[in-house]
Amino acid sequence: MQVVHRRQELSQVIDHWHAAEASIAFVPTMGALHEGHLSLIRAARRLATHTVVSIFVNPVQFNDPQDFALYPRHVDADIALLEAEKVDLLFSPEVEDVYPEGIEHLESYDLGRLEQVLEGAYRPGHFQGVARVMRRLLDMIKPEVLVMGEKDYQQCLVVQHLLQLLHMQVSFHMHPTVREADGLAMSSRNSRLTAEDRKKATLIYESLLFIRSHIQQLSFDVLQWHVEQQLKAAGFVVDYVTIVRSRDIQQLNKPINEPMRALIAASIHGVRLIDNMQVYP
Ligand code: AMP
Repeated sequence: MQVVHRRQELSQVIDHWHAAEASIAFVPTMGALHEGHLSLIRAARRLATHTVVSIFVNPVQFNDPQDFALYPRHVDADIALLEAEKVDLLFSPEVEDVYPEGIEHLESYDLGRLEQVLEGAYRPGHFQGVARVMRRLLDMIKPEVLVMGEKDYQQCLVVQHLLQLLHMQVSFHMHPTVREADGLAMSSRNSRLTAEDRKKATLIYESLLFIRSHIQQLSFDVLQWHVEQQLKAAGFVVDYVTIVRSRDIQQLNKPINEPMRALIAASIHGVRLIDNMQVYP
């Protein structure tokens, strides 16, 4: 595996590959890799001749400086995992490689309602940060295929919207959420949970299952109220429990005859977890 840190070096490799008619599947990450990331990478390997992974803890998408400071970083262990997956290239840039112009006064994208609701409401500026880094990484890596995780469902919609906005010919592949044996969605942030909170965290998954199995019988108000009470009783601070129309995360208060998805965001002792699940059909 080639490990590249500088943007100039990256361009040379990418140009060389494209000249040789390679196709590139790209998996952007912030490192602290786990099975969820590796599953995306395995999918990527099947979708193109070459696989590129990036590891970049993007300062521009963190609205909470403490979250940025505490974000787990272990690049050496990550490199070993990526080698084992036969990734062709790891791009692990410094901030100045991604933002040569600096990180003040960056451009904005018209993400519409997608950046105002749910994660957008609780993390102001987050999706502009995601759009800014994705634009730059896509411009540098020039992939044919982009693989991202359903775990961050709203992020997938934002990036799909960005691809349309920028008229980028990149095929978007959303990969299913990979879970621990007890159902907790894998996340780099899980390592920050205490042993006791780690056990409680499975309640988020159980809540999604509860919504899925009761969506035909109970009103949305009752479903949301019940799940919030359960989470609060276990010690979570709940940001949202909501049911949306899958295609545009329009929040719903009654069932529709289209795919629907439940999304939850909740924190326990300062560790914020998100998860979601298709609940209909
Ligand atoms: P991150 O490093 O958290 O920015 O995640 C990098 C990519 O991996 C994103 O597209 C995430 O949605 C995806 N991802 C993270 N956790 C999981 C998971 N448990 N299952 C599937 N994809 C995931």
